Amino acid sequence: MTASDSRNAARHAQAEQWLVPTYKPQPIAIVRGEGCRLWDADGGEYLDLMGGIATAALGHCHPKVVSALNEQASKLWHVSNLFSTEPQLELANRLLAHSFADRVFFANSGAEANEVALKLARRHFHDAETDRTEIVAFDGSFHGRTLFTLSATGQPAYREGFEPVVPGILHAPFNDLAAAEKIIGPHTAAILVEPMQGEGGVRPATPEFLEGLRSLADERGCLLIFDEIQTGMGRTGALFAYQQYGVTPDIMTLAKALGNGIPIGAMLAREDIAQALVPGTHGSTFGGNPLATACATAVLDELIEGGVLEHANAMGKRLGERLDAIAASLGPDKVVEARGMGLLRGIELHGPAADVVAGCRERGVLVIPAGANVVRIAPPLVIETDELDRGLDVLESVLQSVLG
Ligand SMILES: *Cc1c(COP(=O)(O)O)cnc(C)c1O
Repeated sequence: MTASDSRNAARHAQAEQWLVPTYKPQPIAIVRGEGCRLWDADGGEYLDLMGGIATAALGHCHPKVVSALNEQASKLWHVSNLFSTEPQLELANRLLAHSFADRVFFANSGAEANEVALKLARRHFHDAETDRTEIVAFDGSFHGRTLFTLSATGQPAYREGFEPVVPGILHAPFNDLAAAEKIIGPHTAAILVEPMQGEGGVRPATPEFLEGLRSLADERGCLLIFDEIQTGMGRTGALFAYQQYGVTPDIMTLAKALGNGIPIGAMLAREDIAQALVPGTHGSTFGGNPLATACATAVLDELIEGGVLEHANAMGKRLGERLDAIAASLGPDKVVEARGMGLLRGIELHGPAADVVAGCRERGVLVIPAGANVVRIAPPLVIETDELDRGLDVLESVLQSVLG
């Protein structure tokens, strides 16, 4: 095929011309997906080891989610939160039954879920008539692109040119409890942390760090918020990563895999805290939309009752073992380390991840970077052993040739 008959090339040119240039999309247009496979506009087939950035947990076009969406699409699309709807309550019921939380607020994205979590923390202490307004977050974190969540994001490059940021946010080094201890004080409303940093390089928190933050929050009277937008929904091997750590937050946020790709976010909180958001304090036109919540309900049912969670746990172990073996065979001159939990893992290189991402794509396997030097692997949780092995064989050989 010449470049001029390539539909991928034509679409890529349009993307470059028409879209606000915040993304530098890869030079293929994806037209269809099924399970762990994707097809581009020229018929090229890919094995998906990135799942729409840790989102397509059940794989692409999972039949149960497709039928939940179709069924809801012919029943009711949208009435706003001025009415309750059954799909929203079904989802709330499941999320609360399977987590520490007593109440949930539905949003449309991860950033929106974090936005309301941060607003809730401030409002909670406002009602208690304290002057706790500060948020403590961590270097290397990623919490979203609204101004509040961007301000909390611990990567200065994301904030550049958008200052002044939201005041009252302090950053401490990740996994450094002594540093956190120094800045958590009488003005801290909440500590915001990812149990494992995703975008920031696939870095798990140490158990001591999260346990220590829990103790600090209790001793010093502030809230602990876990951003489980990327780690939640079975990604790390449990339904929520906090369960694996045995450290329960006061507030938790979810998005990415919650709807298997349909836009939805959620903020879950304990009863006494959630009470601060009285009528009129927050809202969302689309939040909890029937289409989105019907999909998310199907996702939870499949994860829990359909056995996907156990499968993901087994596949996660295999992925971890194989990445360790790849790291060992390439050696410390090429690989810094392989790390992660469950089916969210990264391999940090002495070299740019982008070259490896492109090399894998050319050989029909999709992976993504997490920061400049980390190749992130976050396949659908339903991936089978032979698919995973085939993908990792390609990754290994691309790593050998790119880093060679
Ligand atoms: C992706 C992500 C967000 C932002 O979610 P959006 O849906 O892009 O707004 C926030 N926190 C974490 C940990 C994420 O991975």
